[in-house]
Amino acid sequence: MKKMAKFLMVVILILSMACPAFAANDTLPGKTAKSDFRGLWVSTVVNIDYPKKPTTDSETLKSEAIKILDLAKDTGFNAVFLQVRPTADAFYKSSLFPWSRYLTGKQGVAPDGGFDPLAFWTEEAHKRGLELHAWINPYRVTKKEWNQPSHDFASLAPTNPAVLNPQWVVKHPDGNLYFDPGIPEVRRLIIDGVLEIVKNYDVDGIHFDDYFYPDTSFNDKATYEKYKSPGQSLDDWRRENVNTLIRDCYYAIKVTRSSVRFGISPFGIWANRSSNPLGSDTNGLQSYSSHYADSLKWVKDGIIDYIAPQFYWNIGYSVADYSKLLTWWKNAVAGTGVDLYIGMAAYKAGDANPNSPWHGTQEIVRQLELNDTVEEVKGSIMFTYNSLANYPELAAAIKAVYARRDELAGKTGLIVSRPSGNITTSLDKYYLNGASDPEKPLYLNGLPVSGRSSRGYFGILITLQPGENRFTFTQDGYSVTRVITRTVSSGPQKMSKAEIPASSTFPRSPVYGMPGETITLSCQAPAGSKVTVQIDGKTYTMKQQTATPSDSGLYAATFTYDYTLPNYAGNPRKVDLGVPVYTMNYKGTTSTQKGAAVVGVIMKGAPVYAEVKVPMTYTFDEPSSDNGGRHQLYSGMLDAVTGMSGSYVRLSSGQWVNKNDVNVYDLNFKIQSDIKQVEYVIGEGWETLKLDATLSPAAFAVFDGTQVKLTVSATCRAEAPQLPPNALISSVTIAQNSDSGTLMTLTVRPGEKLTGYYIEKTSGGLLLHVKRKPQSKDQSLPLKGLSIMLDPGHGGTETGAIGPLGLRYAEKDINLNLAKKLAAELEALGARVYLTREDDRTVSLEDRLAMSKMMLPDLFVSLHANSMADNVDISKVDGFSVWYREPLAKDLVELLYNHVTGSLGRTLKGTHVRNFYVTRGTWMPSILLETGFVPNPQEFEWLTDEAEQTRLAKSIAEAITAYFRE
Ligand SMILES: [Zn+2]
Repeated sequence: MKKMAKFLMVVILILSMACPAFAANDTLPGKTAKSDFRGLWVSTVVNIDYPKKPTTDSETLKSEAIKILDLAKDTGFNAVFLQVRPTADAFYKSSLFPWSRYLTGKQGVAPDGGFDPLAFWTEEAHKRGLELHAWINPYRVTKKEWNQPSHDFASLAPTNPAVLNPQWVVKHPDGNLYFDPGIPEVRRLIIDGVLEIVKNYDVDGIHFDDYFYPDTSFNDKATYEKYKSPGQSLDDWRRENVNTLIRDCYYAIKVTRSSVRFGISPFGIWANRSSNPLGSDTNGLQSYSSHYADSLKWVKDGIIDYIAPQFYWNIGYSVADYSKLLTWWKNAVAGTGVDLYIGMAAYKAGDANPNSPWHGTQEIVRQLELNDTVEEVKGSIMFTYNSLANYPELAAAIKAVYARRDELAGKTGLIVSRPSGNITTSLDKYYLNGASDPEKPLYLNGLPVSGRSSRGYFGILITLQPGENRFTFTQDGYSVTRVITRTVSSGPQKMSKAEIPASSTFPRSPVYGMPGETITLSCQAPAGSKVTVQIDGKTYTMKQQTATPSDSGLYAATFTYDYTLPNYAGNPRKVDLGVPVYTMNYKGTTSTQKGAAVVGVIMKGAPVYAEVKVPMTYTFDEPSSDNGGRHQLYSGMLDAVTGMSGSYVRLSSGQWVNKNDVNVYDLNFKIQSDIKQVEYVIGEGWETLKLDATLSPAAFAVFDGTQVKLTVSATCRAEAPQLPPNALISSVTIAQNSDSGTLMTLTVRPGEKLTGYYIEKTSGGLLLHVKRKPQSKDQSLPLKGLSIMLDPGHGGTETGAIGPLGLRYAEKDINLNLAKKLAAELEALGARVYLTREDDRTVSLEDRLAMSKMMLPDLFVSLHANSMADNVDISKVDGFSVWYREPLAKDLVELLYNHVTGSLGRTLKGTHVRNFYVTRGTWMPSILLETGFVPNPQEFEWLTDEAEQTRLAKSIAEAITAYFRE
């Protein structure tokens, strides 16, 4: 409790500081700050993607480029990697490398009309909002196809640096030519080639893939002998050659144009754990020892901007598991500042084998979703373009993942908040709610959406067909889709067998009542059966509650019998009648089933007692908590038990309490609480009726507007107390209301107003505190001396009603915003204000009520905004309403409701009596405001409009002031 007081002091301090404005459309709290890089590789080597076949025709080269960029844009990619140097050549005007034969058919031959592919690609990519990265194979000189000779110098242009410097070139056993990474002049050439691009083209990045040394059998013995450091192994020397290239390349780029990003896409496995303790839990080829690519070092040294390891394996693949590699690389980049993108095998999707993990599009979707779960993953790059172009289902699946991410990140300006995802429902109508750019048309399944609010919020009630219903909103190139599956009830429940299901028999736990009370015995059996129940030695015929379906199937029906508990003579006691036994006969088949527990009688005055064993518990009007708690009982309070049902026991007053909160004693002797003395004292602010009693009787009080009726489970021999002439109460009468109970009636003095009451249990009995309505006395500060607790509804994980902006601006935010405004208004009028929460945190309803009980403010106002069921057109529901439970709050409720609706012209939604948790406090007027309907687009604008909410806060504060002036 002390902690809470401290917390409240903090609240007060915070309230005295200025509250930052909380506007609807700026700096909304985003879901995730993680970036989302979406790259697509466009391969030119052997004409994988571009051009389809070599040509000098620049129009063909342009139109193919446009087609690729359009698909990239439409799918949702934001970066394209164009391979501009597949084999010591160029897809741009170079003074170092000849034109690529994959471009024009013959190395060194330029395209028509001075066309420069890289310049065109860069410009067209940027027009579409795509980054363009120039992708280079640094060492490869030739890429041999089956019909080409090995070590094919003849295919190279005379200007090729490999032709000009044959001493730089290694003839590899795979038939290809490679530049020797160990030669410093080779590294210089590669870097000059990179800088030529960085200087002459507006590219966003330079990119190398996994081709470093082709393998370990590279013939570079002479270079090694010439350039190795003393004692340096061949492997270390080769790795250092690559490291040097990467490092020099990085710094060369950064000093030339620092905004250009440099990244590498190595083979996915750096090393296996079996060969290096730092390696991954994999068993595949290791780029550290096979390609001499020490990619982990580049990450740790920060000589690349991003790393995009190629994970061309499925999740769960035994040799190289996608998810294990994801974890390994996540740890590799953690804390380095190097971004992690995943190189993904789009080319593997659509495997014809239905048993392959790559069958269909699911593996890629699963991998993208797995990437989303790892904060360090900043994006992915798909290999390669034609995998999407030739498999539109894959492009569509990737597009759907990207669209969902855009929606979550709030990038589209298009939000579908209700439902927030795909759902299954039995409803036949559904209210779709969301936000859009008001300046641009919005379409739902191709049809324009009308009736949007001025800020672009929309709410539409749609009709659902049984099965899958697909709703796609589109605006400005973005789309958001919701799939709502409507289930249809299958009619009467079928039974597999003619029997009484064991779980259907009543009761499931012991049931006791008073003699003469009726208990409904029930079970399920096939419709059309004859069913009987036997109890206390007698057999009764039960009644089928639903009609028998006309077809011949076996359907379940409920059978009931209203059984009257018998009377007994003799000493009051508890009598067990045994377990009911149910028997059915269906077309000659018979079956018997017992209930799970006994039925019994508690005779009037029987010595069965309940004692509260928790600090506080609630009583209920019925054996269920569905309609909320009625009265508080405190630890040690004792009452006679008059019934049991399910999880509840009934007390002598007829109120029910949860069995878990009481000890039940079944005694063979009577105990009885007794009130010995009654006193009335006037204290500071509160006046108190003091009862001295033996034992600790259960007690509760009700105020009906003029009288407080105090029910105590005790006999009373005491006289009514003497009342001082200035007491709030003008008379107290005491009457026996049952064998063991007393009713005390306190009448409020005419002309006085009671605005609070509560019971306190003491060691020697109990206290009933009552409070006179405080008055505003100070003219300039009309609320001076008064305390008001404001309760912003929901908070934290409890969002409250969801409107057009979903979780970006939910009811909890609306309530807190208003609470802060109202607090400022009330404080300006002199009130002391408490808040049950001052930020976005979860606070239980119990704690909210406990805070008010501890602080005993003069008023408790819970702030909420409303919603309706999902199958209602909430765009047509609006207005302001006030809710309360206790008659002592009625004056305030009517005054406030009339003032606010009158001064602001709000639609009248009425005043209502409801047993909400936060309207349950009796120690002050407790009211709950539903200020408007969150999912209604127009109301949401009002609820999130700073000026309108300030007017609302002022109006509420005026009403509260008027109330205390009355
Ligand atoms: Zn609410």
